[in-house]
Order: sequence, then structure tokens, then C-alpha cells
Amino acid sequence: PRVNVNAQKPVHKSQKKIAVLTSGGDSAGMNAAVRAVVRQGISRGCQTFIIREGWEGLVRGNTDDPTPFQTRESSTVTTPSLSPSDSHPHLPTRAVSFASLPPSQQLAIHPQAHGEHSHVVNYTDPTWIAPLSDAPLSFGYGELLKDGAGEGDLDDMAGHGNPNASIESIDKKAKSLRGKYIVRVGWDDVRGWLGEGGTLIGSSRCPSFRQREGRLQAAHNLIKFGIDCLAVCGGDGSLTGADKLRAEWPGLIEELHKDGKITSEQRDAHQHLNIVGLVGSIDCESCQDWSLTFRNDMSMTDLTIGALTALHRICESIDSISSTASSHSRAFVIEVMGRHCGWLALLAGIATGADFVFIPECPPESADWEDEMCDLLKSHRAVGKRKSIVIVAEGALDRKLQHIKPEYVKQILVDRLGLDTRVTTLGHTQRGGKPCAFDRILPTLQGVNAVQALLDATPETPSYMIGIRENKITQVPLLEAVAQTQAVAAAIDSRDFDKAMSFRDSEFREMLQAFKISSSLAASSQVPENKRLRIGIIHVGAPAGGMNAATRQAVRFCHNRGHTALAIYNGFEGLLDDNVAELSWLRVDSWTTRGGSELGTNRTLPSVDMGEVASAFQRHGLDGLLLIGGFEAFNSLLLLEQNRANYPSFHIPMIHLPATLSNNVPLTDFSLGSDTSLNALVDACDAIKQSASASRNRVFVVETQGGMSGYIATMGALAVGAVLVYTPEEGINLQLLQQDVNFLSRRYKLDVKGKSEGRLVIRSEKASTVYTTEVMTKILREEGSDLFDARSASLGHTLQGGVPSPLDRTRAARLSLRCMQFLEQHGVPQSQSTRGHRRLGKDTAVMIAIRSSKIVYANMDVVLGHTDMKLRRGTDVWWGDIKHLVEVMGGRTGLVASS
Ligand code: ATP
Repeated sequence: PRVNVNAQKPVHKSQKKIAVLTSGGDSAGMNAAVRAVVRQGISRGCQTFIIREGWEGLVRGNTDDPTPFQTRESSTVTTPSLSPSDSHPHLPTRAVSFASLPPSQQLAIHPQAHGEHSHVVNYTDPTWIAPLSDAPLSFGYGELLKDGAGEGDLDDMAGHGNPNASIESIDKKAKSLRGKYIVRVGWDDVRGWLGEGGTLIGSSRCPSFRQREGRLQAAHNLIKFGIDCLAVCGGDGSLTGADKLRAEWPGLIEELHKDGKITSEQRDAHQHLNIVGLVGSIDCESCQDWSLTFRNDMSMTDLTIGALTALHRICESIDSISSTASSHSRAFVIEVMGRHCGWLALLAGIATGADFVFIPECPPESADWEDEMCDLLKSHRAVGKRKSIVIVAEGALDRKLQHIKPEYVKQILVDRLGLDTRVTTLGHTQRGGKPCAFDRILPTLQGVNAVQALLDATPETPSYMIGIRENKITQVPLLEAVAQTQAVAAAIDSRDFDKAMSFRDSEFREMLQAFKISSSLAASSQVPENKRLRIGIIHVGAPAGGMNAATRQAVRFCHNRGHTALAIYNGFEGLLDDNVAELSWLRVDSWTTRGGSELGTNRTLPSVDMGEVASAFQRHGLDGLLLIGGFEAFNSLLLLEQNRANYPSFHIPMIHLPATLSNNVPLTDFSLGSDTSLNALVDACDAIKQSASASRNRVFVVETQGGMSGYIATMGALAVGAVLVYTPEEGINLQLLQQDVNFLSRRYKLDVKGKSEGRLVIRSEKASTVYTTEVMTKILREEGSDLFDARSASLGHTLQGGVPSPLDRTRAARLSLRCMQFLEQHGVPQSQSTRGHRRLGKDTAVMIAIRSSKIVYANMDVVLGHTDMKLRRGTDVWWGDIKHLVEVMGGRTGLVASS
């Protein structure tokens, strides 16, 4: 059956034309940003374009000349002999393989060129753009199929596909786009892009865009295509360029008009260029200057697109190295990216439990850092540690402003400690690979917001940079952001470390403190003997990623401050059995990377025998309690607090650190374990999708855990590009099912023949007791008839994840540190207290919660005010609107509206 695409025109058709480009170094998640801009743009009735190869593509526009161009450009770090203005006599003018050049022409790369950050020109390295026919734009319905598609305007909101097209016609069209850099794209051009690393539309460094002449050409090309909105995803350089283009725009169009290159009508129609920036970069010196520097103070952005995926790659590598280091009792010095910013190095240090970290903005405290490092590593070895991991950020400096080089660190460890030491430079592996869950969700949210910002823009409003703070998408004037970023870069370049650290936000400083506490064995920071506490640590409920990392940090804090950390094994049952023991520094050493619960956990509440629990508190002399777990842990704390009137031993400070994969703990936006779980879901769904696509025309109904909370299902659906999601909050009914079946049928009808893809439907296990996963799969199979088939998969306990994600590990360390500081602040040692008479207020039994961009301590009354005890979840969820977004991105909204 054929679909009349003309019947699917959106109701509100805007004349806006939105283009998106990626520029500078690639980063994981750029494709998700492009996908979101394209799909949201189409949903809003705009025409959407991609600009290939970043600013270079915009400067070039569409020509009939398919000559590739050189992508590298110079930077300030070149030596005089390799200065940017030098044009090397052997510079090839045509594509030629580097290896085929005679050695004399293969210039040595500048000695400073190291790692990812080298912008040093190697003029004989011809990094040519791949021919367009190799680009993954071969299956699409925008520019590619415009001709073959009949009269329909296939970029319309409803024009999701083109059943009239054949695979051959798409390939042919793709080839004809050789030499064209501005390409109109449609809905399905960006299908499957969420999980792809790098940038599929290409990126480059473009020297000519730095010149006004280049920007004039770029403006001309935009006007030629009638493009009035531009979304730019890149690092600080790319966004600086965007800001320049915006600022110069009035002058540029006047000049184009004066030179007769554009008509008066074109000039009048293009008085304003709306630009929006998305920070996509893993280059620490730029991205984290954007992100961490301004966080909290300036509401800029917490994280840039791609940074967390880079942290994933680093942690995967260091986790692997750790096991071999341990086996052979070796030391490893690992170099990671970060010329001006130690974010990746520091967070990797926390997440992997490294021994020592060198970061640019905070050099080692003593001038003789070699001694400082050796003393620390020696102390670790003395308590029995078999491995030593030292992480060095590329730009690490000492107090004398000397570069700290991994090879030199190695030599020190060999010479002074006699350690068998190896150096590993992670290099480009940090940049690559498929995006983690967060780097699919964040750019999607930002891309959607970017389109909104473009459509809302008026001549009076500034251009915005889209950022994120915790879970809130923010808009910051691009001009302001660019200026601030440059100020930070200057401060770091001048090596003013105090200033550099003052630019870092409080989270960065907390992370640094958490790292130092966890790696230190010195007794210097211990509290006086009469202030030392006995702190119990208990896991309650189901295991979740990050529980062990939080416990490790708590134990290390106790050790550092002179308190006693008591592990309560096997939850409240274990407490009743006196299964309580002191945890040593070494015992928890490898716990950052361990999934599950090392202490053992179960769902038993203290109400099982309140009196016995109280007496166990007394027997073990607990002065404070850290409960790590999900809803049961909250419930336990509530019961303990409510029973304070009856049992004096409960009058100790107690704090609940939320940890559960389902993220159903009230009040807090995030629980430990939920990120690990999302990543496990993404991995599983990527594999399922591949199988679904290989079988063609197959819908997979994937069942997720999550109890009565649809968080994992919803965010997972957004991260994997599921077309539908069912949650307990929304439920399932017959009418909804009917609409969804209709949507799927229409969607499959629009697929190119022979090129249907697998599609995912995510169903939260408790979305409905009637329409179970099995029932739904059968319904879909029946109704899909010969259009599509349906299968189901239950992810079950795999969602608890194996190794906790870096985000859960680092979040665990930070929150656990805060919890222990809280207990220390409110705790009074048994010997000093008037136990039995002492009464503590409500604010000493609290939950630590991430609320928007703040960390708060909420007493049980406050938490109860946000809790649905019957459904075991919060009453207010920040992710409530995401289900709608899944349906927009999956195409359901557009197709249902047009039917
Ligand atoms: P990354 O963080 O990966 O390095 P970036 O966007 O900072 O990304 P740059 O190489 O600095 O990467 O910039 C990318 C492109 O942006 C440049 O090739 C150039 O075309 C443009 N650009 C950078 N700085 C400027 C500037 N000051 N004026 C105009 N254009 C600029």
C-alpha cells in the first residue's frame, strides 16, 4: 500500500529552515544532537539541513567540485619552523596517502605533539575528507530522495519515510551529492544515529572560517539555501566562530548585497541569523572549562556532550590494567587527556581507586612531589596493596611549572621504590566508541531545546548556548559563555593555580577532597580521640551499582579522621545476628569497581524486631549510621526515626544515601545505581536492536525492571531510540494500544522496501497487570500481520549491571563523603554523650538528595511529603515529560497527529 505523503502535511507549517553542523574535535553524542535537532525541527514544521564537515562545509557550500580538502589547521602550539603560515613545499594539492610519500616529505611531528590535543600541523599528513558516497547518508528521505519521491515534501513532519523509494535510488542519489556540503535531510536520514560514536556528518578544523572572508562565504551559502537558523555543536573554538558569525551578520549581508551576490529580497529576508550552540567536546581544556568552571555560579553547563563517554573509555582501560597490575604487583602510570583541566584524570582516579593523580590546575602540594608520591605509594604497599596506579593528565604541572611527564614518573617509581612500572598512554581510545547512556540523553534533550531556542528567537534575544545543570537544560547567552570561557583559558594559561581552582566549581573541589581522603593513609587529619565515632554502614534493599564505592569512601573517611567504620553485613538480619565487623583501609580497596553489594543486602526492615535492633545499636556502640539502599533503606530510616521516642539508642545521627536502579526513592532526582542500570539497558537494547534489524520488520518488546517507577524504562527508551514506552505512571489501555498498533503499521508502511528496520518498544514490568509483555507481544504480532513481526525480551536482573558506571562510582564517592561529614558533624561519641537521655532533633535523621542542581539533607517529614508510600515512589518526578519526548523522537506524535 502506498501512502499519500501530501495528506500528511503538518498543520502548522513554518518557513524556518534549520541547519545543524558539528565542528572541532568529534565527541560521542554529537550524532544524537544532530538527530534531535533534525527530528525536533521536522516535528515543528521546519525544513532541516545538515552541513557536512563543520564550518568548512558551510564555507564551501555546494559545488560541483568534489575535490577533497585538508582538514587540519594550525594552532598556537606550533614551533616557528612549523608555523601556521609556513606552507610546506611538499604540501600535496590532491588526495595522496601519507605512507606513499617519500620519508623526506613526511615531516616529523612536533615534539610537543602528544595525545589528542595536538593541533600541530603535519603538513604532509593528508587527512582528506572521505568521499561523500561513503557517508552514512545513503538511506534517507530528505535531499536524497526528493526527486524520486513524487510530489510529496518528504521533510514534513508526517513524511517519515518514502515507500516509493528503492535502495538503489537512494544510493544513486547519495552518490550524486558528492561535493555537496549542505544537504537537506529528512526523518529517516538520522535513524540509528543515537548509538554511533564520533560525528556522522563529519567535522573539521577550518582555517578560512577564522577569516572574515570565509565567514562572508559562509553567510552567502546560508542565504543561498534560505537557512535562517543554525545549530552548532562543537567546542569553545567552534562556538567562538558561531558567535563571530552572529555578530558580523548585519555587515556580512550588507556586503553581499552591495557586491550583488544577494538580492534585496534575500537581504530583507535574512536580517537576522539565529544561532544556538551545543557544547560537544571532550577536549578537557575547553569542554571542562565550559562545564565545571561555570557550574553553580554561572549556570552554564555541568557536562559537555562526550565528556562522560570519554570517562567511560578511560575507566574501562584502567579497570583492565588494574587486574594485570595486581597480578604482577606492578605500578602503572597512565596518561589521560586534559591539557588545562584535570576533570577526566580526577574523576578517573576516583572511579578506579587510583593511588595518585596529577592534574593541571592543582599541582602536588610540595615542591618535592616525587617524595610526596613515593611516600604515599610506599604507605599503600606497606599495608599490603599489590598494585599502584598513577594517573597523569596531559597538562600536569608541578609547583615549579615543570611538565610532569609519565616517563619521568615511571623512572621515579623504578628508581626510588623499585617498582616494576609501565606507562600506558590512552590516546585516541578516549575519544572513540559508542556513547554512554548519558551522552545519548543529554544531546537529545539539548538538541530539542536548541530547536526551541531557535524558534523562539527574536531580533532582540541573544544567541544561546544550551547547557545542563544536573537534569535541567539551561540557556546561557553565547556571547557571555564565550567571553567567560576565554577568561578561564587565559587564567589557566597564566598558570595561576589558585585562580584556576577558584574557577572550578564546588563539585570539582569536593571530588578532589574525596580523592585525597580516599588515597591518604596519613594520620594527620584525624580528629581528637574524644571526638572519634563508631559509625555503622548498612546496605538495605536490592543491590545497586555504586553501593560498594560509597562504602569504600565512607571507610576511607573514617580511617582518615580516626573514626571506626563498622560493616553491618547482611542488612538488619545481620545486625540482629551481630554480623558486624570493622572494615580496614585495605579491605575496601577494590570496591569502587565492584557491582552488587559487598556487605550483603536484603529487604528486611528494622521493624522485624525493633527492640532487638535497638539493643544491637547499643551493643555495638553505634554513634552514627549510614544506610545505603533504595526505598527499603528510606523506610528503615523512617522507622528508626519514628521509634526514637521508645529507644534511646536511635538518638544518633543517621543518614540515608539513596541507591537503587529503579530510581524510585522520593525527593532525590538520582539514586546510585540508576546510571549503571541505564547503561546496562542501553547495551542490551543495542544488541537486541541489531538482531531486530537483521531480521527486518521486527518489533522487540523489551521488559525492564523498575517496580512502580517508569524511570529506567523512560530514560532507557530515550537513550536507545525506542519508538514507544509503557510505564506504571501512565499505564496501558486498549485505546492506547490501538493507537500504537496503528502507528507501528503506518510506520512500517513508510519504510523503503527491503530496508525496514527493527524497532524497540520498552515496557516497564509493572506498566499493566493485564497487558503483560507476553500479551502485548502477541497483540503486536497478530496486528502486524505481514507488515511486522513481534518478539519479546526481558532484561530482568541484568539491569543491575555488572561493573558500576563511572558516574555512579564518582557520585557515590562525593555523596558518601557528604554523608560522613554530616555524621561527624552531628555525632557525639558514646563516652561523651548522655546516652539514654540525649535527644536529637528531626534534622539528624535525614536523606541526602540531589534536588535539581543542589544537594540537600531532607528530614523524614520532608521526604514523606514527597512520597507515595503505597506505590513506593515519589509524588513528583522531574522526568515526567520524557515519555512524550520519546514519542516525538520515535515519530509516533507526528504520525498519530497526521492520521
Ligand atoms: P575541540 O574542543 O574539540 O578542540 P573546538 O570547537 O574548540 O573543539 P577548534 O579547533 O578550536 O575546536 O575550532 C573549530 C573550528 O572553529 C576552527 O577550525 C575554526 O573554523 C572555528 N573557530 C575557532 N576559533 C575561531 C575564532 N576565534 N573565530 C572564528 N572561527 C573560529
